[in-house]
Amino acid sequence: MKYLEEYRNPEIAKRILDEIHAATTKPWVIMEICGGQTHAIMKNGIDQILPAEIELVHGPGCPVCVTPLEKIDRALEIAARDDVIFTSFGDMLRVPGSEKDLFMVKSEGGDVRIVYSPLDAVKIARENPDKKVVFFAVGFETTAPINAMAAFQAKREGLKNFSLLASHVLVPPAMRALLSSPENRVQGYLAAGHVCTIMGIEEYVPIAAEFKVPIVVTGFEPLDILEGILQVVIQLENGQFEVKNPYSRVARNEGNPAARKLLQDVFIVSNRKWRGIGEIPMSGFSLRDEYSDYDAEKIFGLGDLEVEEPEECISGIILQGLKKPNECPAFGTACTPQNPLGATMVSSEGACSAYYTYARHGKK
Ligand code: SF4
Repeated sequence: MKYLEEYRNPEIAKRILDEIHAATTKPWVIMEICGGQTHAIMKNGIDQILPAEIELVHGPGCPVCVTPLEKIDRALEIAARDDVIFTSFGDMLRVPGSEKDLFMVKSEGGDVRIVYSPLDAVKIARENPDKKVVFFAVGFETTAPINAMAAFQAKREGLKNFSLLASHVLVPPAMRALLSSPENRVQGYLAAGHVCTIMGIEEYVPIAAEFKVPIVVTGFEPLDILEGILQVVIQLENGQFEVKNPYSRVARNEGNPAARKLLQDVFIVSNRKWRGIGEIPMSGFSLRDEYSDYDAEKIFGLGDLEVEEPEECISGIILQGLKKPNECPAFGTACTPQNPLGATMVSSEGACSAYYTYARHGKK
């Protein structure tokens, strides 16, 4: 299949891998931002064939994983109401809140439905005028445009019974926050290719210059990831710190102007709490005042809510690249996909889920 098989070619992979080995003379810590990339790395065994000097650490780019517990608890509270149809992507249903998850609310009689697009939720709202239909709008810059489109569409139609429970997060502020931490270990980034497809690469240039880290826009196929690693390593070895985009077949440097315009029309950049990490300034999208009639938090008036993360879950540390999932004492014992203690074990993009699925039980 074009654009897939050609980026899985084993001979080319071997050639790039040889180049990585030849280029590497020192230890380097490289973070892949996106959870999709983490899974691709584990699935293809890329972490196991790199030079021993190269350590891959796994970033906070899993939207389900970084959605704060307070937001999950709000979702549970809204979903349990008789007058609500609560809609969400499937991933969110098993993410544990303080006491239960959305599946449990559903089993207790809540009308919780899995949808494949927020526009499906708009359709449900259209067909159920006597119910309040809420979509759990979680995600990075990649999913934000379609959620913005749902709010835009509902407003255009004058729908009064549709709203978003929005918890959007933004990648560049998180990269900056990790690099600013005194504990930071990251020396180079594989930037998330799909985020750049929407937002372009401009925002990364000042980060690379300020923190002296190479940033390489990277896709999700094995050759994309190997090429991304190679370009980061070459820069690190040569003392360079530029933004490079070898994923230009998908991510244009300027991003998608139409999607960015829609985001600007519907959302405003705001402070955002990240699960396990804490608040990162100006790292999220909230609905603009013009869209307050579509803001579930305002409609349901849930107010401030502060809850404690479970102590045994170290996912916040993992998502900062400071530890690996298999260093968590609960990994594979108290915490499994069947009995998850944290979102990173549930999400299809979670680092703990990747380590469990692809049997990385020991350290590299
Ligand atoms: S293994 Fe489970 S408890 Fe440990 S960090 Fe991952 S999700 Fe949290």
